[in-house]
Amino acid sequence: MAPSYVHEARRRVGRRAARIGPILERLASAHPDAGIALRFRTDLELLVATMLSAQTTDVTVNRVTGSLFRAYRRPEDYLAVPLERLEEDIRATGTYRQKARNLKGAMRAIVEDFGGEVPLELEELTRLPGVGRKTANVVAAERGAVQGIVVDTHVRRLSQRLGLTRHDDPGRIELDLQRLVPREDWGRLPHLFIWHGRRVCRARAPACAECVLADICPASRVRSVS
Ligand code: SF4
Repeated sequence: MAPSYVHEARRRVGRRAARIGPILERLASAHPDAGIALRFRTDLELLVATMLSAQTTDVTVNRVTGSLFRAYRRPEDYLAVPLERLEEDIRATGTYRQKARNLKGAMRAIVEDFGGEVPLELEELTRLPGVGRKTANVVAAERGAVQGIVVDTHVRRLSQRLGLTRHDDPGRIELDLQRLVPREDWGRLPHLFIWHGRRVCRARAPACAECVLADICPASRVRSVS
């Protein structure tokens, strides 16, 4: 879209501060089942599943963790096996050498620095090897301690298409969203954007004609007839 059309489209749909409420409410109605798709029972399993989910699908992670979590129950279990064995056990999730090294490093830090418990604060979570801000935000939010907004590829794409940010960098996008979105909605926004991004606002072929946000989205391909 040429810059002049972008400006015109933004003017047509109105200010983002006025649109964010309807955006969230409409998505909540359209995707009442939106939630984390990773399977876990404990804080440790949540951390491991989230670390393994980089560059792969939740379905693949759930397949791998089904057997992984039966064999690895405590941080010490990850430290007790040779690196090559752990690599083999998570191989299907891709980039398994890096992930296995990160898992070992994170488990060592949990044992040595956090008394064997997964920390809750974002600042502490991001001190674990292999845990970036996105992973830390997911882990904190799922434990009811939301401290930021998860920005993954879907949240980034939808935030841009909906005109909620002009940035491309996840950190800058998160800041824009934090300024715009009421804090009580920080936890549910990523789930809603992720599910809408998978089902409707897909990367290559957004289904604007079926989208509940078409009339308030500057990137909509559905033209108003009025
Ligand atoms: S109208 Fe189109 S571009 Fe906008 S959110 Fe919906 S599917 Fe995405």
